[in-house]
Amino acid sequence: MQQRKGRIERLRRLFNGAGLDAFYITNPENRFYLSGFSGTAGALLLCRDQSYLLTDLLTDFRYIDQVSHESPGFTIIEVKGTYADALFEIVKEKGLLRLGCEGDHLTYNQFVALADKLKGVELRPSSGQVEGLRLCKDDGEVRLIKEAVRIASQAFLQELPGIKPGVTEQQVALRLEYTMRQMGAGGAAFKIIVASGARSAMPHGVASTKVIREGDIVTLDFGAVFCGYHSDITRTMVVGWSRQKLEDIYQIVLEAQMKAIAVLKAGVRAADVDRAARGVIESRGYGPFFGHSTGHGLGLNVHENPSLSVKNDAILQAGMVVTVEPGIYLPGWGGVRIEDTVLVEERGCKVLSELPKMQLTVLK
Ligand code: ZN
Ligand code: ZN
Repeated sequence: MQQRKGRIERLRRLFNGAGLDAFYITNPENRFYLSGFSGTAGALLLCRDQSYLLTDLLTDFRYIDQVSHESPGFTIIEVKGTYADALFEIVKEKGLLRLGCEGDHLTYNQFVALADKLKGVELRPSSGQVEGLRLCKDDGEVRLIKEAVRIASQAFLQELPGIKPGVTEQQVALRLEYTMRQMGAGGAAFKIIVASGARSAMPHGVASTKVIREGDIVTLDFGAVFCGYHSDITRTMVVGWSRQKLEDIYQIVLEAQMKAIAVLKAGVRAADVDRAARGVIESRGYGPFFGHSTGHGLGLNVHENPSLSVKNDAILQAGMVVTVEPGIYLPGWGGVRIEDTVLVEERGCKVLSELPKMQLTVLK
């Protein structure tokens, strides 16, 4: 609650500084971040002196209770017609002249409808304002991400023996998701990736009907959602028996991942974390087979800024939560990726996902 007030104050300072009278928020994650409102439809209008929550879901009194409980401090407006109509009433009453809105989220049709209804009001779309506030996680957010990590890790360890010859990738994914939900997750953070055998060469091969066989490499990329916050972890294993080339590639990926984690701290450029991992893989001749960036931010979205990409010159800050996930993918042979969820700190970083990774796991 106190944290949400602080977030709204920071956003107010931003839009005041930009000469706006109010800011209209439609992105669901941003709406949740600022208001705590978990409903499926709604928007916020933040004025200089008042915060409104608009929703068309107030169909019965129990819902009104939920909204006022989740979002204290907000004036709740029931939207009976369109959101543009409801906004028009507030704009008229408060005499608002310049309104910011989320250009990355509002659809063209919604924008046109707003502009049409709010004639004489300057509508100014902007990009990434609330997302900017969301970059650094506060203690409460870090606790929720840690819980999402804990659930995913525990579920993984529980389901590991179920990865064996004869089961399909989809069965592995289903059991893992079921267990995560039983352990308190709101759901899987994304469609669980189970890529076995030659399919493990596909960095994002969602679970298929393929049957897992003896000797298959299995890449499992999974995460849980807890109170809106995500975790994201990958482990690569082999079923039955290992071989030298696989062991070698696993150790290169592990070294790359640990190198990136070793340089990860506040003040470092995102691109330099990518370079650290990529440098290890390139020096062993596998550069062309590491075709994605080293990691990404995560929080209310599973993919958010900062991207740990060679193109991102942004300076990392304490409180950011990112993944570190280098990989090597050899078409027709298979692939290895190791991914952890990591908290950036002033003097280093803390790996939140502590599943074993120092040796390639051979599932017997
Ligand atoms: Zn992942
Ligand atoms: Zn990831």
